[in-house]
Amino acid sequence: MTTRLKKILIIGGGAGGLELATSLGRKLGRYKRANITLVDQNHSHLWKPLLHEVATGVLDEGIEALSYMAHAHNHAFQFQLGCMSKIDRENKLVFLDEIRDDHGVILVPHRWLEYDILVMAIGSVSNDFGTLGVKEHCIFLDNLRQAQRFHNKMLNLFLKFSAPGNLEEKVNIAIIGGGATGVELSAELHNAVQQLHRYGFTRLDHQALSLTLVEAGDRILPALHPRISVAAHQELSKLGVRILTKTMVIRVDVEGLYTKDGEYIQAELMVWAAGIKVSDLTRDLADLETNRINQLVVGSTLQTTRDPNIFAIGDCAAYKLPNGGTVPPRAQAAHQMASYVYGNILALLRKQTLKSFRYKDHGSLVSLSRFSTFGSLMGNLIRGSMIIEGHIARTVYIALYRMHQIALHGYIKTGLMIIVGRINRVIRPHLKLH
Ligand SMILES: Cc1cc2nc3c(=O)[nH]c(=O)nc-3n(C[C@H](O)[C@H](O)[C@H](O)COP(=O)(O)OP(=O)(O)OC[C@H]3O[C@@H](n4cnc5c(N)ncnc54)[C@H](O)[C@@H]3O)c2cc1C
Repeated sequence: MTTRLKKILIIGGGAGGLELATSLGRKLGRYKRANITLVDQNHSHLWKPLLHEVATGVLDEGIEALSYMAHAHNHAFQFQLGCMSKIDRENKLVFLDEIRDDHGVILVPHRWLEYDILVMAIGSVSNDFGTLGVKEHCIFLDNLRQAQRFHNKMLNLFLKFSAPGNLEEKVNIAIIGGGATGVELSAELHNAVQQLHRYGFTRLDHQALSLTLVEAGDRILPALHPRISVAAHQELSKLGVRILTKTMVIRVDVEGLYTKDGEYIQAELMVWAAGIKVSDLTRDLADLETNRINQLVVGSTLQTTRDPNIFAIGDCAAYKLPNGGTVPPRAQAAHQMASYVYGNILALLRKQTLKSFRYKDHGSLVSLSRFSTFGSLMGNLIRGSMIIEGHIARTVYIALYRMHQIALHGYIKTGLMIIVGRINRVIRPHLKLH
């Protein structure tokens, strides 16, 4: 008698989900010990912390993005393009919406996919906290499409500014949210301006860029060590970024934003990067427990509290830390959760005891483009935390992405990718101009 292969379904091929699908594919899919399926609403994967580099053109997504279909084929799992919108827990089914083309014509009808074990890894989106006008007038940096939209708008803005006869003195850009995304994007924008100046946008320079970074808290990078905030604040101020702390944005219109203190900041391009939430989809998802930002509440084994057949990892999971907080929405957390759930799925299939997740904070780094990198390292080796900057910090910052690449491609292919990256830096322009 043949036994039916277990079906493991992973929703979301981001920092956590794609690593998990890859390792399960290698371990189980390749030897026909289970059916692994990954679902994502996009055709290709780009590691989310690189989005601000795509937005400014420092990174070419055409080179860096990874096709899910090809990766699935190489790592013995299946890929289904689609957007999940419902779960039927009783019958263990997941519903994918129909796929339509740009004219609304249905390309793929809606589908139900079966599962024995389901892993939710759908990440997070920007939280506008219901602020008036944000959805209509600000750009979010949640996915590749939005980063590309920012890139096009930025290039158009700079082109208009540099056009012969243009009398405007400044290009006004505002970024709302002084977390890592806002800070890194500010520095990348100054880098982009420098590169474009060299490529022939002669009117465009540091002085011409009027960049305002608005933060509601009393310092930028509020989640990081105060010394890192101070260092980043100084470096951005040196570049000419106007930093407003303790400033709440209450409304946005087509030409700028209003602060609670009564100031109107004019801006032709506005980015909202002030906090995250999980998409509203999870709020009433099959009666699974969620918190105030729609994260799925998980227990110590990363199984959701109301259904042991459903795990949640990464930004969409709320895992309580001993200090009462939850694991922060970071790539390193998604990576660690993917490794734990990999072990726990194997344990489930072998009818062994599942392990409890322990989050290890290895520190945080922010890269101010080629101007500087700051961060803190934490761990047993250094017994506590250590502030680093400059070349060492830059190397550690890049190492986080390398770890993701190694988890997906192994050491040899990642090594080759590093070499190709170095060659591209010599033979290609330093900024994507189209
Ligand atoms: C600009 C930026 C810079 C950042 N920098 C850093 C950094 O320096 N260091 C750091 O640690 N973290 C950083 N982060 C945070 C980090 O990117 C996230 O914590 C991490 O990507 C979370 O991984 P994840 O797997 O939970 O979700 P994601 O990587 O966001 O992946 C979620 C996936 O789910 C898919 N999906 C969503 N909904 C559905 C659906 N309904 N159906 C099908 N598919 C779906 C999406 O298409 C996506 O592929 C940054 C984030 C941003 C936006």
